[in-house]
Amino acid sequence: LSFENFKLNKQLLEAVAEAGYSIPTPIQAKAVPLALAGHDVLGIAQTGTGKTAAYVLPLLYKVKYAQGQHPRALILAPTRELCMQIEEAVMQLGKYTDLRYVCLYGGIGPKTQIEKIQAGVDIIISTPGRFMDIYRKGEIHVRELKTLVMDEADKMLDMGFMPQIRAILEVIPTKRQNLLFSATFSSRVENLSTEFLEFPEKIEI
Ligand code: AMP
Repeated sequence: LSFENFKLNKQLLEAVAEAGYSIPTPIQAKAVPLALAGHDVLGIAQTGTGKTAAYVLPLLYKVKYAQGQHPRALILAPTRELCMQIEEAVMQLGKYTDLRYVCLYGGIGPKTQIEKIQAGVDIIISTPGRFMDIYRKGEIHVRELKTLVMDEADKMLDMGFMPQIRAILEVIPTKRQNLLFSATFSSRVENLSTEFLEFPEKIEI
């Protein structure tokens, strides 16, 4: 199996090659086709397995072809560090697309982040708390969100983000694709997935 087997476009395949990826990892081999086909995905995979590209590639493809004025994808992650790593992957794999993204996290003032949103973004990468803070200021237009990723869902639940996640899920469109990744399949992750995912394809590697 090679990346050419996936229904991706030239810009993405070029970026994949430049990143030095020649063979999809097992999680990518399973998750990318399912996500491209529009399924909800529940992926149980640890860091180091290539899980980030497993959702970033289909997300970039989908956002590229679902044109719009406002953000079309939201990636939630538990920490600023992970958000920044995801942003790095979005930057690297999206380098030949013209997609715009912003990385939102706490610990600094929201002004620069809000200015970037106002300038226009297609993809938001955020910790749950900071997303809701800026949303409540009226600075995030959520109506066009069509893809939700929750990365390291088990860690988000461990860190007590369930109220913020619930609040986010209440304000974003219900008609959307959900991609949930977790290092472990705990009962809390299972509850989250039964509550918010629709007929998810479960992948364990
Ligand atoms: P992740 O599990 O998403 O944190 O990725 C772990 C590392 O593997 C990152 O440095 C990626 O750039 C790298 N990586 C992801 N997919 C591939 C691939 N198909 N081939 C080689 N390296 C990869």
